[in-house]
Amino acid sequence: MKVVQDGTSTRVYVRQSWLNDALMCPERARLSELHPEMRRENDSALMGTAVHSAIEKVINNQLDVRDIGASAVASFDQLVVDLELQGKEVNVTNTDPSKWATHISSMAQAWGRDIYPYVPQGGQTEHKFEAFITRVANARFEYELWFEGTMDYIHPDGIWDWKTAARKYSEVEKLMALQGLPQERWIMNDQHHLCSERWCPVWSKCKGYYVGSQQLHAEEA
Ligand code: SF4
Repeated sequence: MKVVQDGTSTRVYVRQSWLNDALMCPERARLSELHPEMRRENDSALMGTAVHSAIEKVINNQLDVRDIGASAVASFDQLVVDLELQGKEVNVTNTDPSKWATHISSMAQAWGRDIYPYVPQGGQTEHKFEAFITRVANARFEYELWFEGTMDYIHPDGIWDWKTAARKYSEVEKLMALQGLPQERWIMNDQHHLCSERWCPVWSKCKGYYVGSQQLHAEEA
């Protein structure tokens, strides 16, 4: 989420990744915004980023599709090095690190084999966009709500979203349901299978505070 002051008006931008969090668990989205330092780089997300990077190179004619697997693995390795330079590490979820390279290469090669032949040439990769959603005005706030994101590939024939995970694309219209929530206590979805120490980066600020042994602080709205 990003707040931009534009003259006398205030714009609140929400990204598709934040929206995914909010749809899964609004409290997770709120706490992640309050504590950006707690965001973690999950193995699956890093793999997706690496595969996307290799796909982009192929589409932009910087890489032969036959080399996409090796390129994706090299991108992943570089991402891990970059993380380590920041003093962080990959958050291992439900994957086996010894099989990361094979898995990444397989995903990239599957794209090259099964999808690439159908992708029309001449489009644009990583196209950033923003869209005005609505104006919000109540006794406490007045702002414009905007949605922003990145299209993996846009071409006059259509928009392409490379899927390297099972998660479905967010539905923009569900954003409307979030308009009234910004400073109130947020709804928790603690029955979700991703509500766990392994998957939720703000676990220790929320449910983990009550069920764990750590002396950390639960956040109240
Ligand atoms: S611990 Fe569970 S309920 Fe709390 S923010 Fe994370 S996903 Fe939501």
